[in-house]
Formats: sequence, structure tokens, C-alpha cells
Amino acid sequence: MYQQHSLLAQSLGAQREVLSLHFGTRGQGPKIYLQAGLHADEHPGMLVLHHLKSRLLTLEAAGRLTGEVVLVPIANPIGLGNYVCGRQLGRFESSSRENFNRHYLDLAELVREQVAAELGDDAAANVALIRRTLTTRLQAIVPRTELESLRLTLMTLACDADYVLDVHCDSEAMVHLYVHSEQQAQGRVLAGYIGAHAILHATVQGGNSFDEAFTSVWTALQQAFAQQPIPMATFAATVELRGINDVSHELALADAEALLAYLGHLGLISGAVPAVPELVCEPTPLAGVEVLNAPHAGVVAYRAPIGSWVAAGTALADVIDPLSGQVSTLTSSIAGMFYARVIERFTEANTELTFVAGREPLRQGCMLGA
Ligand SMILES: [Zn+2]
Repeated sequence: MYQQHSLLAQSLGAQREVLSLHFGTRGQGPKIYLQAGLHADEHPGMLVLHHLKSRLLTLEAAGRLTGEVVLVPIANPIGLGNYVCGRQLGRFESSSRENFNRHYLDLAELVREQVAAELGDDAAANVALIRRTLTTRLQAIVPRTELESLRLTLMTLACDADYVLDVHCDSEAMVHLYVHSEQQAQGRVLAGYIGAHAILHATVQGGNSFDEAFTSVWTALQQAFAQQPIPMATFAATVELRGINDVSHELALADAEALLAYLGHLGLISGAVPAVPELVCEPTPLAGVEVLNAPHAGVVAYRAPIGSWVAAGTALADVIDPLSGQVSTLTSSIAGMFYARVIERFTEANTELTFVAGREPLRQGCMLGA
């Protein structure tokens, strides 16, 4: 079940590895790839995949797996060990200062020339060709750094999957998803099972995040080879499993069950499939998220709970400077779902504090935070 993937040693005596857990039979049925902890200081998904592993072992023993499941519960051993003054900082690599969930390779660019001559009229054959080529091209890259080798390892494990779920969490948040705009229908299904309060869609999020690598490859190849049938063969999503402190057996067990129901829906598990639960929200553009920043430093007192639908003009938070007495109220200028806010109750000037998902696009360019 376990496969070990050694990373390039960035220094001497510092060899790290990624472990992947494999269920079902390779090449048989649909394949789903799930990873947690790419931002290594985001822990809810790690516990969910722990519980999911137990359930998958049971299902596999009972002969009920009809597809292939790959779990990487600890996707980022580099960030996991990055403690500064006793505090884990797992979002950025300390050496390069790069965000672990940015700068993934342009996979279309990687395979475009190699597949050009072999693409034909059979969509399924084209998908198989592209996936084979992705795997061999990724395996042929010689990484120069540990971070590059981590990115290559994760991409190689995921590049031939039909479904890629990158499980993160926000600061304080309701469950929400990032999906490609062309995959809103599939996003709705996942959202139904996992109880998402926002489905944020974009054609380009900006930043080349992990999930985006597996959708942009298909859209870019579709554009490059307009004469050949190339479907959006991979559904990829970032799943934000609530906030940083929402780690409990109760939540994780329920999330694992929800993911199993989703896997059943996708045809990876035989037996009865629970119907897609009623949606809490409809997809909204990522460009429609209103982010409010602190106008100055101060203590943060929130005035609205996350998970609430707010009207335009709703006060979301106060930022209080106890020295001057200045109190600034952050007010939503749009109607939408107040789905996330930062957990810290003291802010520097200009820090992002509140996130409301509205229906109309407001923003342009890179729409992911640092
Ligand atoms: Zn994250």
C-alpha cells in the first residue's frame, strides 16, 4: 500500500520523503488522488485522510473498490518541519520564500510537442496519450532543489488521475472549494457531499497552484490542438476544510464519510450511493470575492459570524486602536456569503481580514493571496 518517494536532499544528512498510500488496482476504474498538508500548517485534511485510510482498507478487503485511490496525507514534509520560535510555518519554504502551493509546472507546455504527431480522432486515446506523456516527461525532469523535487513528486502521483483533490484549510472558515469555471457542475456535486458554503470558480486563478495545473493542462491543449477531441479529463479542486483549528475526530470522521459518498458517486466504490445532499450555495466567481483589509493596525473584533449570508452594508469587523481610540468598521459593500476571516485578533495595517463571496465579478488578475 505504501510507496516511498525520496526528495532531493537540500543539504547533507537531510533526506526527506513523501509517502503515498495506494488502494484499488492501478489502471482499473477511475482514479482519484487526494493530498493534505501541502500547506503544512493546515491540519484538518491530515486527520480526514487518516480516517479515510481506515475506511478504504476495510472497503478494499471487502472487494468493494472499483477504482484507484491514492492518498498523500502528508504532502509537504519540508514545511512540516519548519518551526520558527516554536511556531510551525508551513505555507512558505523558508529558503526560497516560495509558497508551497504556487509555481507548478505548465504541464501543457511540457507535453505539447511530444503529443502533437500522435493525437487523433479518439478522445479517450488522446487522454491516454497525454497522461502517458505527462508521466514520462515529469519523471525525466531532474530537480535542482528539494522544493522542485517535492512539486515533481506530487505532480507525478496526480497527473494521470481523473479527480484531484488538494485538501487545505483557511484561517477561520466554512468549507469552500476552488474549481475551474468549466467544472462548476462537478464542483456542485463535491460541494453537496462535503457541505461547502462557497464554490469559487475561475478560468485562471493566477499563481499556478496545484489544482490549477491539472485543469489548465487540458484547456491549453484544447486550444493548441483545436482539430482533435481533447476533453477536460481531470476534475481538480482545492478543498478548504474550514479553519486551522477545526481539527476533531467528529469533523474528520464526517468529512471522511462525505468523501466516501463522493467516491461512491464517482464510481470508485460499489454499493448504494447516498444521493447528493442539497446544496448550501451555488457557484460564484472567484473574482466576486470581496476581501476587506485592515485600514490600520489594531485589535480585531468581528461583528458577524462566518457562515452567514450578509447584505450590502453589513458590518463585518471592527479594528480598534486602543491608544488613539480609533475604531474602523469593515463593511461589506456586496451581498454574499461571509465564508472566511482571519483567526488572529490583532492585525497589522493592510492585512486581509474578511472574505465574502458575491455573485458579480469585482477583481482581476491574480486572485489568490500570498
Ligand atoms: Zn492552504
